[in-house]
Amino acid sequence: MERLAELKVNLCMECGCCSFGCPAHRPLVQTNKLAKAQVAAWKAAKKAADEAKKAAEEAKKEAVK
Ligand code: SF4
Repeated sequence: MERLAELKVNLCMECGCCSFGCPAHRPLVQTNKLAKAQVAAWKAAKKAADEAKKAAEEAKKEAVK
């Protein structure tokens, strides 16, 4: 997933030119759309995990006081 983000799959504007011109008739737009959705879900899960971790650390600090 990180690799997809590094490759900037989110920059695909789903114009369809790559699918139109692909000599192998690969479903490139559909693949990019799926990859974009997976990256978005991965980022949301990562953000939720980071926030939960931060909240747990703050709760731990409060418990020590
Ligand atoms: S659909 Fe294909 S050609 Fe169009 S922006 Fe996305 S990757 Fe590029």
